[in-house]
Amino acid sequence: MWISIFLRFAGEAKAMSVFCANRANAFSRTSSSSILQLYTSSLTLNRRCRGRSRSRVKMSYEQDLAIAIKAVSLAARLCQGVQRSLLQSDTQSKMDNSPVTVADYGSQAVISFVLERELPPGSFSMVAEEDSGDLRKTDAHDVAQRITELVNQTISLDGTYNISPLTIDDILEAIDKGKSEGGPHGRHWVLDPIDGTKGFLRGDQYAIALGLLDEGKVVLGVVGCPNLPCTSVSTSVKPSIDQIGCIFSATKGAGTSMQSLDGSIQPKRVYVSAVENPEEASFFESYEQKHSRHDLSAAIAKILGVKAPPVRLDSQAKYGAMARGDGAIYLRFPHPGYREKIWDHAAGCIVVQEAGGVVVDAAGEPLDFSKGRYLDVEKGIISTNPKLMPSLLDAVKTATE
Ligand code: AMP
Ligand code: MG
Repeated sequence: MWISIFLRFAGEAKAMSVFCANRANAFSRTSSSSILQLYTSSLTLNRRCRGRSRSRVKMSYEQDLAIAIKAVSLAARLCQGVQRSLLQSDTQSKMDNSPVTVADYGSQAVISFVLERELPPGSFSMVAEEDSGDLRKTDAHDVAQRITELVNQTISLDGTYNISPLTIDDILEAIDKGKSEGGPHGRHWVLDPIDGTKGFLRGDQYAIALGLLDEGKVVLGVVGCPNLPCTSVSTSVKPSIDQIGCIFSATKGAGTSMQSLDGSIQPKRVYVSAVENPEEASFFESYEQKHSRHDLSAAIAKILGVKAPPVRLDSQAKYGAMARGDGAIYLRFPHPGYREKIWDHAAGCIVVQEAGGVVVDAAGEPLDFSKGRYLDVEKGIISTNPKLMPSLLDAVKTATE
């Protein structure tokens, strides 16, 4: 049924995208792209369904995906702008954490705004990393003001929404929509507005990661990677500037696709590496030694016979790079006492699974996202293709015994 409605309104959606393209400025390449056509057609459709309950109109994840891609794309633009000015600023302001604070909250506010506006009324629940507590303190007024300006600028440049500027209170309210506890029932969006803040500050990798839980299972994931080349990170060929910035997206049972953030590369299916011989495999791990034990990864790689040095990347960009086969293995071993959060893995996990990969904890058990905001995993998280997984699990067991 949805396909026929989708096709029926395709013409209208196209007209809308032309309208938006005419209004485009800094986002002109994205706005005239297929991303916009995809999400505009979906949004047109969604508005027609407002007021009807989800039980009467069965929503497909395809429509949620279009909305999620739009939300993540806008947040990515906001973050890119902040990171650009951060990298151009002097050393003193680079030591200051405020740029990442502004981008983090701004990204969460934009995504919350888009989701709430585009989803059917009353259906929106979100588990997100940030809340407005610190921003409501009197000394944070200037930061809150800056975030509000950035969010308004991002929404206005996009041109899709004809609204009066949001106030600081609107922004704080939007951020606080992320306070849901998630759990095993219903639908909950799961958001890390900037995953890899250390990478963001360094000018390296970071990701905007948005997932959707339905009855405790991850059914959709979008990982926006503004600094990840659209080409493989495993080659030594330096990508040109216009090949940087991509989005990975997946829905349950429909595979994983990658497209460029600027719309110059259309969505294309991606697949994990098919490498079966560990000697030919390379592995990903956190850039930050504090986030994942490099010594343990090195021991596991040695047992497996991996010859290549580790590829260290910040954030869920690692899951994206895994999903398109840049490397065959991902190893994550936080130091004892650290509790993983669902927003650090939900979107990345489905992006790898739908590309044919397996993501489990160090004991080989699937990750359980239905337990609330935390993800209780045994010792660590590992990922590879199904053929390599048995030997990887053996190597993990030997190294951790
Ligand atoms: P990565 O860039 O893959 O190392 O992961 C970044 C994420 O690790 C951040 O978004 C944090 O949520 C999370 N993180 C923060 N502190 C730690 C820690 N001590 N151990 C493991 N992960 C952490
Ligand atoms: Mg994170």
